[in-house]
Amino acid sequence: MGEIWIPEATRLGSGNIGGAMDTPNLPARAVEHTTEGSFGTAAAFRNTADYLIEVASEPHLLYDPTTDMLGQFGPLNLSARALRNAGTLRTNRTGKVCVQIEYMARAKTPFTSYWKPGPNYRAMMRAIRSWGVPDAFPGGRLSRSGTDDVSRSTTTWTTKGGHFGHCQVPGNDHWDPGDLDFDEYFRRAYAPVPPVTPTTPPPAPRRRPLIYRLTGA
Ligand SMILES: [Zn+2]
Repeated sequence: MGEIWIPEATRLGSGNIGGAMDTPNLPARAVEHTTEGSFGTAAAFRNTADYLIEVASEPHLLYDPTTDMLGQFGPLNLSARALRNAGTLRTNRTGKVCVQIEYMARAKTPFTSYWKPGPNYRAMMRAIRSWGVPDAFPGGRLSRSGTDDVSRSTTTWTTKGGHFGHCQVPGNDHWDPGDLDFDEYFRRAYAPVPPVTPTTPPPAPRRRPLIYRLTGA
């Protein structure tokens, strides 16, 4: 059993968004989405959460990669509802868990190129790993544009654990979250980027001893 509610996350909505997984014996996975809207402020965070609740498309988690704000709509061990089904395959309910994250960002500008992940990002990834989701994208690279289709293999989706872009989920036609830098994505999950080593300040100028000229008397 992994983490169900992330202690660091703000609770959003009623907490009741889904149900039991259909195929708990299949590997655990996570799905990355982008909201394609505004970001960077508490108001944008609240408005985005309200919108996802209103349209009944809540992921489990909402994260702003520029502010490190993290919210949670529902328990990680049950389903979320930001994916479309692939016929009879209920993609929201595939696997031991299917942890869905909406990143407040736009697919056309991959957020790993400018983000500022902090302690809440590390908490989110800790919780995802607690279910045995490996640090990998088994479907390979992500879509780089709306016309750049990548594989949405049902076999990969049902048999592999790890992270999937929304663009890689069978039965879906969105291309989010954009072309993330995988190394950067996982590296930042383990530890803060070390601070820039401060350069040694130049020594303060030594005060020259005052030399009193003895004026002759
Ligand atoms: Zn999506």
